[in-house]
Amino acid sequence: MESYGHFIGGKRVASTSGRTADVFEPMTGETRATVALASKAEVRAAIENAKAAQPAWAATNPQRRARVMMRFVDLVTKHYDELADLLAREHGKTVPDAKGDIQRGLEVAEFACGIPHLMKGEYTEGAGPGIDIYSMRQPLGVVAGITPFNFPAMIPMWKFAPAIACGNAFVLKPSERDPGVPMRLAELMMEAGLPAGILNVVNGDKEAVDALLDDRDIKAVGFVGSSPIAQYIYERAAASGKRAQCFGGAKNHMIIMPDADMDQTVDALIGAGYGSAGERCMAISVAVPVGQSTADRLMEKLIPRVENLKVGPSTDPSADFGPVVTRAALERIKGYVDLGIQEGAKLVVDGRDFKMQGYEDGFYMGGCLFDDVKSDMRIYKEEIFGPVLSVVRANTYEEALRLPTEHEYGNGVAIFTRDGDAARDFAAKVDVGMVGINVPIPVPIAYYTFGGWKASGFGDLNQHGPDSVRFYTKTKTVTSRWPSGVKEGAEFVIPTME
Ligand code: NAD
Repeated sequence: MESYGHFIGGKRVASTSGRTADVFEPMTGETRATVALASKAEVRAAIENAKAAQPAWAATNPQRRARVMMRFVDLVTKHYDELADLLAREHGKTVPDAKGDIQRGLEVAEFACGIPHLMKGEYTEGAGPGIDIYSMRQPLGVVAGITPFNFPAMIPMWKFAPAIACGNAFVLKPSERDPGVPMRLAELMMEAGLPAGILNVVNGDKEAVDALLDDRDIKAVGFVGSSPIAQYIYERAAASGKRAQCFGGAKNHMIIMPDADMDQTVDALIGAGYGSAGERCMAISVAVPVGQSTADRLMEKLIPRVENLKVGPSTDPSADFGPVVTRAALERIKGYVDLGIQEGAKLVVDGRDFKMQGYEDGFYMGGCLFDDVKSDMRIYKEEIFGPVLSVVRANTYEEALRLPTEHEYGNGVAIFTRDGDAARDFAAKVDVGMVGINVPIPVPIAYYTFGGWKASGFGDLNQHGPDSVRFYTKTKTVTSRWPSGVKEGAEFVIPTME
C-alpha cells in the first residue's frame, strides 16, 4: 500500500509527524494509501526550503521561467492517462471526467507560459518636469495554496502555475482525500526543470493549514474549499498580514424560461446536475422553471433521464458518474435527501438505495430529484454536494431572478432562453459572479478570471487570468529624475503643481 509523505526540496520525503489519514478508493471502498499529516515543524521546514530557493528563481528571466511551464504542459500531456487513472481511483470521478479535471488545470499552465508579457510594467515619460515614472511587478516571495478534494489536478494548477511563473516559491497543502495527483504534478514540475524548493507539497490537515496561516514568511494564501473554512482561512490569514483569496461553496441555479428549447435544456441540466456525482462547485443544484407549464414540460422529460442515469465504477468509460469521495460524504448526502422529505419537498426520483453490483462496498448512490422545493427549506439553502437536484417552481421571471440574487451563495448561475433581452437583463442584474446564457456550467476560460460572489468568495481578485498575476505580484512604482532635470533649491510644493 502506498504511503504518501511530502514533497520538499525537490523530492519525496517521509513524514516525521507520526500522524496519518487513510486515502480511499471510492469505487471499491478499500483503503488504497495512507497520507502523512504534517506537524508544524515539517511545515516550517518546507517554508524555509522555499524561502532559500525563491530569490534565485525570481532573478531567472521570465522567458526561462515560462519555458519550464511549457515543458510542464508537455509532460502532463504525455502522462495524461496515468494521471487520469490515479485521479479517478482516489477521487471516484470517471476517467473521462478526470481528464477534464487535468485539462482545465493545464489550460492555466498554458496561460502562465505568457508570463513575460503578463508581468510587463508601465512607463510614463515626462510625468513632471524632467520626471519619468514606471511600475514593475515583483513576486511576493513564498506563497501557499490550500485546495479541495474535488479537483485534485485543476485547482492546484490554478494556484501554483501563475504563482511560480511570477517568480514565487509555492507550498501546496492539497486535500488529504486525494493527494496522489498533486504529488505527481510536483514531480513533473521538477522534470520540467523547476529548481528544487520552488514547488513543495505538504500533506496534512488543520495543523498544517494553521501553521501556514500563522507563518510570517508566507505572503499570500489561495484557498478553495467549503465556505465556513474559506471564511476562517481569510480571517486568520489577514490576522498575520497576508493576502488571501478564499473561494467557497455554491448553490448554482439554472433558470428555464418558457421559450427555452426543452430538449437542449434537459441535456444541459442532466450533465451539469449529476456529472461528477454533483461534486463540482459549478454543478447546477437548483433548476428554476418559469411558469407551471414550463415546469410540467421540464419534469416530463427530466424524470426519465434521472431514472436512467448510469452510475458505475470510475474505470467504466460509459458511466455517467461514479461514486462519491468517502463513506462520510455518502451518509451526509443521503441525510440531506431524508431531510428534504421531512421538510415537505417531493422526492420524485430516489437514488438512495442504489447498489453497484460487484462493488458493494463502494460509495455509490443514484441520482435524486426533488420537485416543489421551497426557498425556506434547508435543502435549498445549504450546499449538498452530491447527485441531488432540486426543482423550485417560479411563477414569473422576476421571481426566478430573485432566487439566485438573494441566495447566500453566488458562485455560478445559468439562464436558458431564446430571448436575448431576457438573457441580457438577467446577466446584468443577477448577484452572482459567473453567468451562463444557454451554457449550464459557465467556468470562464483560463485567460478570463474565475470567482464567485457573496459566501462563495472571500477576499479580492479572482483565480487565473490577469487577476492571478495581480494576486501573486506586488507593484513597485519608481519616480525618477536625473541631474539635468533637477531644479536648484529646495522645493516646498508638489511637483505636479508647478
Ligand atoms: P473543505 O473545506 O473540507 O477542505 C478544503 C481544504 O481545507 C482541504 O485542503 C482541507 O484539508 C482544509 N481544511 C478542512 N477543514 C479545515 C479546518 N478546520 N481548518 C483548516 N483547514 C481545513 O472542502 P472539500 O470538501 O475538500 O471541497 C469541497 C468544497 O469545496 C465544496 O464546498 C465546494 O463547493 C468547494 N469548492 C469551491 C470551488 C470554488 O472555486 N468556489 C471549487 C471547488 C470546490
